[in-house]
Amino acid sequence: MDAKEVLTHVGAIDKAMKEKLPPSALIDLLTSLKKGVVATEKLLRDTKVGMAVNKLRTHSDKAVSDLAKEIVVKWKQDVGQKSKQPAARSQDKSRATASPTIAQNPIPSPKKGESKSRVDSSKGSAKEDLVDLAITGDATRDRLIGVLYNALCLESDATPDRILTLAKSLEADVFINHKKKLELPYKKRIQTLYINLKDKKNPNLRKRVISGEISTGRLATMETHEMASEELQGQYKAIQEANLRESMVAKPEKSISDQLQCGKCGKKKVSYTQAQTRSADEPMTTFCTCEHCGNMWKFS
Ligand SMILES: [Zn+2]
Repeated sequence: MDAKEVLTHVGAIDKAMKEKLPPSALIDLLTSLKKGVVATEKLLRDTKVGMAVNKLRTHSDKAVSDLAKEIVVKWKQDVGQKSKQPAARSQDKSRATASPTIAQNPIPSPKKGESKSRVDSSKGSAKEDLVDLAITGDATRDRLIGVLYNALCLESDATPDRILTLAKSLEADVFINHKKKLELPYKKRIQTLYINLKDKKNPNLRKRVISGEISTGRLATMETHEMASEELQGQYKAIQEANLRESMVAKPEKSISDQLQCGKCGKKKVSYTQAQTRSADEPMTTFCTCEHCGNMWKFS
């Protein structure tokens, strides 16, 4: 269903509500929206269909409200899935085609005193650590194992053995994920991993890989935003949630109640708005403002 058709449905829903048409009219419209719409943030925002359906979740007819709730949940999922793609940025377009999981051999944690530690952990490279990179019999693969080694060894006290084991395993996972083809997607994926692993602002990623908390199999298919620093991930999540709220929640209409009493001045002249602040199956939050003294509070 294109935006124009969606708009027609939104108009029809408004009309059905205004003219108090029987619930069956709304159910027809909702059913058609449910079948025809794969939600995107833009579509929800541009057509305001998110708001229209969101309003119907509180409709007095149970069949209507149930269907509206179902659609809201589905669309939130649609939007959630879509939003993963732009976040991955363009660094690695191959990810979409990479097979998701490959058997992952857990790498044993380093044993104490396993071998000599690295000379200077503040810098270093496979070359300085005198690591033998004749591993796979293929010059390109060996070189890229060295590249991953150079990223993983930054600021690490782990032994060269440990780092090499991880670099080998990571390269092998990426290699298998790309059907053992030494083509651009494989190389780009290694490059993305290299850039993220050596990121000075994100030392945690390296640490978590070296400690074994993140397996190389997992890392091989990780989205860029998952590899990001915690700070960035927090920001990313907040933006996602704000966007979603904006596209799903109706601009609330103010109403004045003489049932609500202000806790501060005791007057019963309180305006309130309701909004869905959390997930769709939780109760609405009511935001209250005392029209007399300006006191504000909320409850759900
Ligand atoms: Zn008051």
